Amino acid sequence: MFTFFSNWRRQRLLTRFDSERRARWQQNLDALPILDGLSQQEQIRLLELGWCFLHGKRFTPVMDAELTDDHCIDIALMAALPVLNLGLDAYGVFYELLIYPEEFVTDLQFVDANGVEHQSREELSGEAWEQGPVLLSQSKLADSRHWNGYNLVIHELAHKLDMANGGIADGLPALPVPLQSDWLQVFPKAFANHCRQAELALSLPEGSAEANLAWDRLWIDPYGAENQAEFFAVCVEAFFTDPIALNLAYPPLYHLLGQFLGQNPLARAPQWQPLPHLRCQ
Ligand SMILES: [Zn+2]
Repeated sequence: MFTFFSNWRRQRLLTRFDSERRARWQQNLDALPILDGLSQQEQIRLLELGWCFLHGKRFTPVMDAELTDDHCIDIALMAALPVLNLGLDAYGVFYELLIYPEEFVTDLQFVDANGVEHQSREELSGEAWEQGPVLLSQSKLADSRHWNGYNLVIHELAHKLDMANGGIADGLPALPVPLQSDWLQVFPKAFANHCRQAELALSLPEGSAEANLAWDRLWIDPYGAENQAEFFAVCVEAFFTDPIALNLAYPPLYHLLGQFLGQNPLARAPQWQPLPHLRCQ
């Protein structure tokens, strides 16, 4: 029933997406490098998903953030990319994006591996609340357009994709049944490997050649070593913005994400080769 009403609502929204507005959105799509190489059909689907995303959520500027139409369209297009072949329902139910002008301070609570609860204050560029809004820092959006391994919008929306399976971000999204057992083999192994490599890099003298080599061999954002939820978000972010790096680091995980999301960004990413000394580990 939920799907029926969301489909009905989207069809109604699309009746307002006329050729003039489509042309306007197409300009933004053409100007976003990480959307390069999508087929004509994929571009049409992305535009329509982005339009429905924008009109299905409240975009709220806070602390005097100056939110323009271009910002909103770019955010909506990037939000639509991970679910291009899954549909917007894959994000579960949430209603609002809060846009901050800069990074913001938030109180964090977490329980460590020994069951001890911790509280801390941290400065963040983005956050996705379980059963709540997505928070984005506008100052980081300018960096979130290129094939550079960083995309705040995709990272935070990846948390929503993860949370849509049971409301908790834990690195286990709502996978189709045939992928589940492979995921339970591949994902924890890749996470453990990422943690091991991050620990090794941290243990080496800062700035030394060995430390630099260890950081380079991580390939994807060390922040993924925080926990499985962050590792999932970092991997989805890399999948769409530096797929060669993710495929170098964890080929089986790249393959599984490709099956889950129904996409292969490797085929449209600018090609590069790792330096010879980084190839073997
Ligand atoms: Zn995160």
